[in-house]
Amino acid sequence: MALVNVHFLKLQKNYLFADIAKKVKAFKVTHPNVDVISLGIGDVTQPLCPAVVEAMHRATDEMATAEGFRGYGPEQGYDFLREAILKNDFLPRGIHLDIDEVFVNDGAKSDTGNFQELLHWDNFIGVTDPIYPVYIDSNVMIGRCGTYEDGRWSSVVYMPCTAENGFVPEVPKGHHVDVIYLCYPNNPTGTVLTKQELRKWVNYALKNDALILYDAAYQAYIQDDDIPRSIYEIRGARKCAVEFRSYSKTAGFTGVRCGYTIVPKDVTVATFEGERISLNQLWLRRQCTKFNGTSYISQRAAEAIYTPEGKQQVKETIDYYMRNARLMLDTLRSMGYECYGGENAPYIWMKTPNGQGSWQFFEQLLYSVGVVCTPGVGFGPSGEGYVRFTAFGSRERTEEALERIKNWK
Ligand SMILES: *Cc1c(COP(=O)(O)O)cnc(C)c1O
Repeated sequence: MALVNVHFLKLQKNYLFADIAKKVKAFKVTHPNVDVISLGIGDVTQPLCPAVVEAMHRATDEMATAEGFRGYGPEQGYDFLREAILKNDFLPRGIHLDIDEVFVNDGAKSDTGNFQELLHWDNFIGVTDPIYPVYIDSNVMIGRCGTYEDGRWSSVVYMPCTAENGFVPEVPKGHHVDVIYLCYPNNPTGTVLTKQELRKWVNYALKNDALILYDAAYQAYIQDDDIPRSIYEIRGARKCAVEFRSYSKTAGFTGVRCGYTIVPKDVTVATFEGERISLNQLWLRRQCTKFNGTSYISQRAAEAIYTPEGKQQVKETIDYYMRNARLMLDTLRSMGYECYGGENAPYIWMKTPNGQGSWQFFEQLLYSVGVVCTPGVGFGPSGEGYVRFTAFGSRERTEEALERIKNWK
C-alpha cells in the first residue's frame, strides 16, 4: 500500500491569489463595463532588456551548431556566470566569496523551498510575519511546523513586523529558534533593515548557533547606499547565513527562470554527536542528485545583465518601477493614507483606513474604483489591517489607478 506523506494534508489552502482572481472574476461578470486595473500580483510587466534578448539569441544560435551545442551543464552552473556573479554582485561591496560557494538555480523559489531538506525535522523555525508563504509551507511538507490553529503553526515562532515596531522584527526572546527566515527588502511590506538592525540577527545566530536563510530577491531595488544588499556585508554572516538571489525581479526573469544561492563553506550545522557538517558540501550533493542545472540559454541571459549595456538597461527598468512606487507613495500619502515601504522595494504596504479588515478594504477598492490590491492578511496574521500595492504595473495603468483612488468618495 502506498501511503501518503500526511504532512501535505496539513497544508492550509493558500489560495490567496486564486481567491483574489475569483473575486475579480465575479466583479467583472456583474460589472462588464469596468476596466479593472491590477496592482495586486507580484509579477513584472516590462519586457526583457535588449542585452538579455541578444544574449539569448546568440546562445540559441550556438546550440543550433554541432560545435556550439551544449547538453547537461554543471549542476551548480557554468563558471562564466558564477564568475560574473562574484565580480559584480559581491566584490564591489567588499565581499570575497569562492566560486564553489555559488549555486546557480532556476529561480529562488525552488531553493528557498528546498533548502530545509538539509535540516533535521525538529529544528524550530522562526519567520517574520507577514511573510512570503513558501518558507512556512515547505517546512510544513516535511512535518516541521506542528499543527495549525487560529492562523498560526504551533511549532513556528512568528516575529511580527507592524507599524508599531517600524517593521523591524525583534530577535526571539521567549523561545529558542534554530533556523530563521529573513527577506530583505521585504515582500510583502517593502521595508528594509539597516546594517545595525541586520547585525542583531547575525549576532543572534552566531550566539545561538542558529542558521539564517536570507532571501535577497529584491536587493536590486535598494536605492539607499547604506542599506545592505547582501547579508555578507555583516561581519560573521558567512559563518551562519545562506543567501538566495533571483534575476526574476532584478531583470524581469520571472518567465526565463534563473537565480542563485550562496552557501559559504564556513556555514556548518551540528549532528547529535556534536560533529559539524558543511552545508556547502551537503547542498552540492543534494543538487547533483535532484537538480540537473539551469538551461544554458538562461545562464547566458543572466550573464548579459552584468555587461555595461545590460547594467544600464536593467537599471532603467528598475528606475521605471521605482518611479511608479514614488508616485503611489506621494499620491496615497497626500490623501492621508498611512503607507510604508516603496523606497527601496517595489511594494507599498498600506494601512487600511478606519481599522478596516484587509479583505473588506480589498472589496471596497474593487467595487468602488475597479482597482485590485492584495489583502495583507493573506501573508500572515500580522498582515491584517494592511494591503499591498505593487509598483510593477505600467506607468499609464498606475497613474490611472491613482487617479481613480483620488476621485473616490
Ligand atoms: C519573487 C520572489 C522570489 C523569486 O522567485 P523566483 O523563483 O526566483 O522567480 C523569491 N522570494 C521572494 C520573496 C519573492 O517575492
